[in-house]
Amino acid sequence: MEMIHMTTLTAYLAGDRSIAVLTGAGISVPSGIPPFRGAGGLYNNKDVERCLSVNYLRRQPREFWAFYRSLFAIDLLLGAEPNAVHRWLSSLEAGHQMTVITQNIDGLHRKASSTHVIEMHGSFDRTVCPACGKVYHTATIRHQSFPHCSAKRNGTICGSVLKPDIVLFGEPVRGFAEAERAVTAADRFIILGSSLAVAPANFLPVLAKAQGVPTLLINDRPALQMDGIDCFVRADFSRFDPEQLQV
Ligand SMILES: [Zn+2]
Repeated sequence: MEMIHMTTLTAYLAGDRSIAVLTGAGISVPSGIPPFRGAGGLYNNKDVERCLSVNYLRRQPREFWAFYRSLFAIDLLLGAEPNAVHRWLSSLEAGHQMTVITQNIDGLHRKASSTHVIEMHGSFDRTVCPACGKVYHTATIRHQSFPHCSAKRNGTICGSVLKPDIVLFGEPVRGFAEAERAVTAADRFIILGSSLAVAPANFLPVLAKAQGVPTLLINDRPALQMDGIDCFVRADFSRFDPEQLQV
């Protein structure tokens, strides 16, 4: 009979020098942020792909902003606080070289003081001017129904329509090459709270595996595609405890 040795997540990772992590919406649910897909998901709205697109922002900016504001509860997202999962990943920096790659736009890894974070889909807490590049904290423009840039250039107000600093449909993700380098160079790759439904992030486990990097999925359910996943651990993120979770 084959012996199976179980250990805690903390002990399991103790020998790893560098760890790359991919996080998805599942880890932010305990912070009160609804998932984008699946039951109760924000993106179940049938107009999302059309209306949350870069083309719609260009062609019908007023309608874009009305849709955007109706889809996201801005104050809820800005007021969300990191939970035990975000804090744990930040604490791992004390003993490991960490890279956190996230599909989430809630900025909670930065709030939890993780220092090396790749936000593949941008961040909700920033709003930018496509014309002059000025970056606004979303809190400062949240009461404007149709926000415009107030920066002064050569004595005149810029006045361009602002853009949420998130990756819209029709735009490429950010930092994928950097994410790929981090994942393939790590001693371990952990996927947390993602069902790996969205490209190109869902390629990362296969890329890691091809380089011999062991991969670990921690989620409340198996991923939609388990290619490249060496080990799956089921976890309830609302009660996440790396000292108790058995791997
Ligand atoms: Zn501007």
